[in-house]
Order: sequence, then structure tokens, then C-alpha cells
Amino acid sequence: MTDTAKRHHVVVIGSGFGGLFATKGLKRSDVDVTMIAKTNHHLFQPLLYQVATGILAPGEIAPATRDVLSGQKNARVVLGEVTDIDLANKTITSKIQRRETVTSYDSLIVAAGAGQSYFGNDHFAEFAPGMKSIDDALELRGRIFGAFELAELAETEEERERRMTFVVVGAGPTGVEMAGQIAELAHRTLRKDFRRIDTTKARVILLDAAPQVLPPFGKKLGEVTKKSLEKRGVEVILGGLVSDLDERGLTVQFKDAEPMRIESGCKVWAAGVQASELSTTLSEQTGASLDRAGRIAVNPDLTLPGYPEVFVVGDMIALDNLPGVAQVAIQGGKYAAKTIKGRLAGKPQLKPFKYFDKGSMATISRFSAVVKMGNFTLSGIIAWFMWLAVHLAYMTGYRNRVYALGHWLVSFLGHGRSERVITETQIFARRAINRLDGGTAAVASAPADWNKVRAKLEAKAEQESALTDSGKRGTHESAAG
Ligand SMILES: Cc1cc2nc3c(=O)[nH]c(=O)nc-3n(C[C@H](O)[C@H](O)[C@H](O)COP(=O)(O)OP(=O)(O)OC[C@H]3O[C@@H](n4cnc5c(N)ncnc54)[C@H](O)[C@@H]3O)c2cc1C
Repeated sequence: MTDTAKRHHVVVIGSGFGGLFATKGLKRSDVDVTMIAKTNHHLFQPLLYQVATGILAPGEIAPATRDVLSGQKNARVVLGEVTDIDLANKTITSKIQRRETVTSYDSLIVAAGAGQSYFGNDHFAEFAPGMKSIDDALELRGRIFGAFELAELAETEEERERRMTFVVVGAGPTGVEMAGQIAELAHRTLRKDFRRIDTTKARVILLDAAPQVLPPFGKKLGEVTKKSLEKRGVEVILGGLVSDLDERGLTVQFKDAEPMRIESGCKVWAAGVQASELSTTLSEQTGASLDRAGRIAVNPDLTLPGYPEVFVVGDMIALDNLPGVAQVAIQGGKYAAKTIKGRLAGKPQLKPFKYFDKGSMATISRFSAVVKMGNFTLSGIIAWFMWLAVHLAYMTGYRNRVYALGHWLVSFLGHGRSERVITETQIFARRAINRLDGGTAAVASAPADWNKVRAKLEAKAEQESALTDSGKRGTHESAAG
């Protein structure tokens, strides 16, 4: 086993794009790397909407980080949510259930990403999940397919309409992709599966406060996307701000018109991001400012003021108006790894971090996408094939690429969707856990209680076996019955 005490120790927080590429960037270095992340997988967020709409299975876009890094002998993976970063003492505290772990570092790379922002209306989250995690995608899958099931059972036309009204809030790439896929489900995939409802009558609404769809793609592509969505049965409502949202629907406020109430059983929140709370911890200790989305201002070399050994990369940073996209995180992670390697080798400091923009793309529906690369723009089927090639190339693992390609053939050429399993757990378990003080820690025993719990279980086992021996339980009882 490697002696972690002797070698330079790099701690990486997060197993997303920034964290993974930073860790891989240190593969052939004379350092030990500990990656601490609150999920056991590396999530390919751009394809979350396909898990939510039954095209892909979670494992295809979220391979286990241990598996991905199994060949990298200097890397160790630790599961846990980082609750504190102590810059003065160079320690990280992470927690899983009630177990707390403190890890020391020589260099630190923070890549904890961003969560959903409800713009101060966090209570909306209960009825309009965001799209940031596998839990989110599975909950949405449960809600989307569940909405059709409940519509089939509805006793009144009013209820049927409410159940079959889907509202996606936020007309960025994620919102466009979700709305396009829900419309495809309603108009194509589920068309023949129900007996009492006509799924093609479902209302799919894409809503945004901005005056156009896909603002970062420019006016022309925004208009192309809007028309393409409308052709596929999506209603696009622009310039409307969600002022209220509850279990049964939402209220939309307009600048020069009366508020509009939309009755809807299934809402998806794809608007706004908020950087990980770890940026606040870092800001308090360094004085680095936070922007409105909670992103922390970093030096041009991605370090924190006064702490050259601490790098922050990806969605958490505010630097030169860089967008919250995968390439910023990937390139930032690689840059931080290269800087650490260079320092240890006594090489001169690298030039400031420079982002190379490889372009953006979004799918509208099958065989339809938009692509923007600098001034070059493209839409339609060729753009869709470009989207397909790029996403296949960036997925982690050969196996996942093969599985995903198979599922895409089934879904896009045929009518099927192989990942339509829904369970009540997907929708309700997370809500139940969130209501517990202390979350999952409230249902797990503390290490100090282990002996007590074990003694209780052993006593119970003895009791049970005595009942079995006396013929009051187990095979004797059922044989008698
Ligand atoms: C639905 C969706 C679609 C997207 N589509 C595209 C796209 O098409 N193209 C594109 O370029 N970008 C897209 N993005 C953006 C892109 O995914 C992000 O910019 C990128 O993932 C950022 O990488 P990151 O490493 O900063 O954060 P993430 O990839 O979010 O990783 C953060 C990591 O930190 C961990 N973490 C968070 N908090 C803690 C904590 N306290 N303790 C321990 N671990 C923690 C998380 O578990 C995770 O492993 C999309 C994002 C979403 C949500």
C-alpha cells in the first residue's frame, strides 16, 4: 500500500467533470490523490433528461467512480459529503450518515459543482424537482410516467387535463430537451399504450421569463428551436415569471398582462443554478467575493487569494463570465492538476487559465438539434448527429457507450423506451428523508451505538430461534398450517 504520509497529498472534492479530470490528470504523478464526493458515481449531467424520460438507465450515465479510477493506483475514493474546509489547518471534514472523517491535504482542488436555484422560492422544490442528480431524474421519471397512469384513472375531464399538463420551467438547453422528450413520449411512445386516455392530447408547456428560447445560442437558433418545439406539440410561453407553485399547478406573472394560473400535476424545474455551499465556506475564510449564483471569484490561475495550494474549478467559479458548462470544468480540472505537477517538478508557473470554447449544442427531439460553434450555427438532422457523436465521445466507459447507443437505436428508430420502471420510492422516499431532522443519519445508528444495536439484534435472533425450535415459528408452523 502507498504511504500517504510521505508523498504530496492532493484532495479533490467532487466526482463530476472537474473532479474526475483533475484526478485523472494526476495519474502519472508522484502524489497521492483522495477524491471525496457525496455520490459514488461520476454523473454525466447532460444526459439526465434521458434517464428522466425512460431512454437510458442511471448506470449508463453514472458509472461508479471506483470503477472508473480502479486502474489509477495513486487515487483513493472516499464517499462522504464535505461539511467543512479548514484552510488554515489544511483539513477537510466529510460526513456519511453519522460517521465523520477528517482528511489532511497539501493541495486541494474543489469541484463541488452547483445545485438548482429556485430564486428564493425553495418550497417550489417539493412539487417541481430540478435536474441535477440521479435522484432528481428518477423522481421526475416517476412523476412523468405516473402522470399518464393517474390520468388513465381520472374520473373527471378536469382532472385528466390537469394530470396530462406538463410544465417545464426554464427554456435553456435542459428545459428544451425535457419539453421535447415529454412531447415525444406523449405523441409517439405512449400513443398506443392506454385505453381511456389519448396521450397525444397531453399539454406540454415550456415556460421562461426571458423573451427567447435558448438565450446563449442567439436569436436565430432560439427562433428555430421555438418553431421546432411548436411543430412537435410544445406550447412555448415566454416573458412569464413563476410567482407561485403548488401541488396542483402554478401561477405565472407577466409584465403587461394578468397573472395566469396553469393547472398541472407534473412540473419540472430547469431554471437557475446555485453554486455549492462550499463556496460560502471558502469565501468566509479568504474574503473572495461571491456572485448572485453563489460562485466564488478565483485568481486567474484558479487558486484562492492567499491560498495558492487551493484550486476551485467548474461550476463553482466566477471568472471572466465563464459559462457553467462541462468543458469549463474539464479544462479547469486538467489545469489545476498540471499546475500541481509543475510546482512539484520545480517548473515555472503556468500561464493564467484560458478556456477554449468548443461550442454548445442542444437536442430538440429525435433527429433535431442546434449547434453553435463561435459564429458557426447549425440546426436539424446533421446537428443531431453531431450531438450524438459528441455525447458518445464524452461518455465515460466503452461499455456505457455501447449500451447507450443500443438504447438510442431502440428509442429513436423504434417507438420503445426500455427504462420505464417507476416506483413510489422514486417519488416519495426522498421527500420523506428530507422531512427527517438529520436526513439519513436519523435512520442510521451512530458508531457508538453499534454494540447496543448488535446486542439487540442478537437477543432478537435468539428469541426467534427458540420459537422455531419449539415449533411456534418457521417451517414447523407453516407445515402445520
Ligand atoms: C441537466 C443538465 C444538463 C447539462 N447539459 C450540458 C451540456 O449539454 N453541455 C455542457 O457542456 N454542460 C452541460 N451541463 C453543465 C455541466 O454538466 C456542468 O457544467 C458540469 O457538470 C460542471 O462540472 P463540475 O465538476 O463543476 O460539477 P459537477 O459535475 O456538478 O460535479 C460536482 C460533484 O461534487 C459533488 N459534491 C457536491 N457537493 C459536495 C459536497 N458538499 N461534498 C462532497 N461532494 C460534493 C457531487 O456529488 C459531484 O460529484 C448540464 C448540466 C445539467 C444539470
